[in-house]
Amino acid sequence: MIPIKFCVRNSPTQVRLINIAIVGAGTAGCASALFLSKYNQHKVSIFERVEKPYSVGAGLLLQPTGMYALNRLGLLDEVKQKGTQINRLRAETSKGRGLFDIKYSMLHPDAFGLGIHRGELFQHLYNAVTNNKSIKVLTNTHITNVEQTDGKVVLNTTGVSQGPFDLVIAADGARSHLCRTNPLLMTLTRRHRVYPWGTLWFVVKDPENKFGDTLHQTVQGTKKMLGILPNGYHDGERVVSVFWSVPTSIKDTWRKTLDIEALKNEICCVQPLAKPLVDQLHSIDQLTFADYYDTILENPYHGRVVVVGDACHAMSPQLGNGANLALWDSMVLSTFLQNNDTVEQALKGFAAERKPHVRFYGMCSRMLTPYFQSNSKVLGWGRDAFMGPFSSIPFVGKQMATVLSGVKRGVINKYDERTLVQAISGRRALDNSDHDDKVLIRNII
Ligand SMILES: Cc1cc2nc3c(=O)[nH]c(=O)nc-3n(C[C@H](O)[C@H](O)[C@H](O)COP(=O)(O)OP(=O)(O)OC[C@H]3O[C@@H](n4cnc5c(N)ncnc54)[C@H](O)[C@@H]3O)c2cc1C
Repeated sequence: MIPIKFCVRNSPTQVRLINIAIVGAGTAGCASALFLSKYNQHKVSIFERVEKPYSVGAGLLLQPTGMYALNRLGLLDEVKQKGTQINRLRAETSKGRGLFDIKYSMLHPDAFGLGIHRGELFQHLYNAVTNNKSIKVLTNTHITNVEQTDGKVVLNTTGVSQGPFDLVIAADGARSHLCRTNPLLMTLTRRHRVYPWGTLWFVVKDPENKFGDTLHQTVQGTKKMLGILPNGYHDGERVVSVFWSVPTSIKDTWRKTLDIEALKNEICCVQPLAKPLVDQLHSIDQLTFADYYDTILENPYHGRVVVVGDACHAMSPQLGNGANLALWDSMVLSTFLQNNDTVEQALKGFAAERKPHVRFYGMCSRMLTPYFQSNSKVLGWGRDAFMGPFSSIPFVGKQMATVLSGVKRGVINKYDERTLVQAISGRRALDNSDHDDKVLIRNII
């Protein structure tokens, strides 16, 4: 492993206070607003199409990277209270053959993940945004287009213009209206496709705490996959999110055609331990369908519009890193605006810094997903035959833990896990200096 040499200069200047608009109050949008107001004191407005923003969604896994960003915002301690510490990720076949058993401690003795309900994460971020008097929140405002002239950007909503702004951050998610319809932003897109397999998910109690501190996956071929993620408490009882792989082609019909009893039997055949979980499934209304996108942007900005989060790099959740990358985008963008004299320099630096991290996780998700969700018998056979012995080699196990933790910036390079883990485990006091960010983000100019 080549150690990363940090080359950091304390910039005496930063981008002067500017007027910034953020489109979308999801993970990336809220975190961007909070970073920009906390560390840069810019004038920030968020536009969200939903009238009363809330987040539907199952549990998600926060990695050390995402938790580090939350810690910089001062939100990690309260978020931790709502989640479950995850120490390992286990996968096996329905016949009990182990595929991998990745422990965060392989990366660092104090490393861990956090299973949390997406709604909890959203609520903490959104509350912090609405409680922050320097951030203006405009809900029920669907942004339909952006127009750039003379270094200013104007946002269009139906019939009304907003702005002008000095910078627009498009954080409008995997189905980004702006990136798919605005002629200039469309030219940035290299790939945008929906995966052929998605998931049906539900959240239920785990009263016997059978799934403890482990994200548990069970597979049968590549067409059946069950994921069980402990993600905090509901009414004082432990809850888990259950994910069941389904083809995306059922998206419009499953509500009418799904036989819930057959589904429960099928899940129990793949993983008998899931019986107490599926016994709590009584109605189709407890289930939600989710599809995944695979999005690659050539470049995350055009002029003074920069794209962050899923709008820029949606990926399959196989590696549990989408929300973490979104949080990291927000932190890095704010750091570059803080350490450069002009918006142009900051966006150029941001794009260069984000490229290897985002490219690595997009590539790994793209490569790995068909081994777990596809129609290929060969890939399933190869996975069952080789993955177990291969992943039990200590060096490989450690590499897998490093990838899972979100710190890889390429095959060799990575962020410094020690700095991250010390911060998230409370071993390094959080101060208001941005020293740690500078140590982690090596290309600051
Ligand atoms: C089943 C599943 C499991 C997952 N598991 C994990 C996991 O374990 N770990 C992980 O890190 N990630 C996981 N993810 C991915 C994670 O949920 C996303 O990466 C993350 O939520 C992206 O955040 P975002 O802010 O970019 O987009 P979003 O959260 O989608 O937010 C976009 C916001 O923009 C608003 N908006 C959209 N268009 C407009 C418009 N035109 N005008 C105004 N507002 C607009 C939307 O209403 C929304 O509020 C998972 C995803 C799925 C589907």
